[in-house]
Amino acid sequence: MTASLHVALSAGDIARFGPDPAAAFAANLQAVRTRIAAACARCGRATDDVRLLPVTKTVPAHVLKLAYQAGISDFGENKLQEARDKQAELSDLPIRWSIIGHLQTNKVKYLVRLATEFHALDSIRLAEELNRRLDALDRNLDVFVQVNTSGEASKYGLHPDDLIAFAKRLPDYPRLRPRGLMTLAVFSGDTERVRSCFRLLRTLREEAMEVHSGLSSLSMGMSGDYEIAIEEGADVVRVGQAIFGPRPTGAELYWPGAAPA
Ligand SMILES: *Cc1c(COP(=O)(O)O)cnc(C)c1O
Repeated sequence: MTASLHVALSAGDIARFGPDPAAAFAANLQAVRTRIAAACARCGRATDDVRLLPVTKTVPAHVLKLAYQAGISDFGENKLQEARDKQAELSDLPIRWSIIGHLQTNKVKYLVRLATEFHALDSIRLAEELNRRLDALDRNLDVFVQVNTSGEASKYGLHPDDLIAFAKRLPDYPRLRPRGLMTLAVFSGDTERVRSCFRLLRTLREEAMEVHSGLSSLSMGMSGDYEIAIEEGADVVRVGQAIFGPRPTGAELYWPGAAPA
């Protein structure tokens, strides 16, 4: 493919992603896959059991053309506006868009047009609105129910005690295809605390599946903790920085090098 020749990289892109982002992403992807395979081997799981969902948030659309070139065609985004802008720019590529972050009800109309999967279902109101909008488009959507397993007020998701009642209501929304549960572990260097979040989600799955058999997959684990998540039963890991490099935050986004060349 020669598509890379048409992607003009700014000085900021090169500072962030290196002079050959496609090669860097491909190498990082390979390294992550190797670690996934090792984690699977440690706990007697088949490598194919774990799906890697690359998280592309903050990576600019033109750079994502190079990610596609590196063999990445599943893009996980947590902000709908950002996903919409990128999708518009990349509409000629066969990308599967997954929305993995909290969604406001007023954004549902955009989500149903672009996403194939939603990992952050966390209220009945949202389920209702998704179902209504999907019905109008005659579409279905794969969904994961987000659970707050860390007890942190800053995290979205259902309280674990509310999951079963929620799962019982899912059949009221036939356009939603429940696929599993999703969580974010506590952000901590204490791996036992991280592990206990993942373990809780796995325990909750046992109960949830008795109510709704579709809730069978666990979407858990990100760059810092996906190997622990796999050991605790993750079926989908959502990995951004380990593939695309560290994300600039706040003012770093506007460092001088980021200006167009
Ligand atoms: C950003 C994000 C991830 C990936 O985080 P990394 O540290 O980039 O791997 C996973 N899940 C959600 C919900 C996210 O917003």
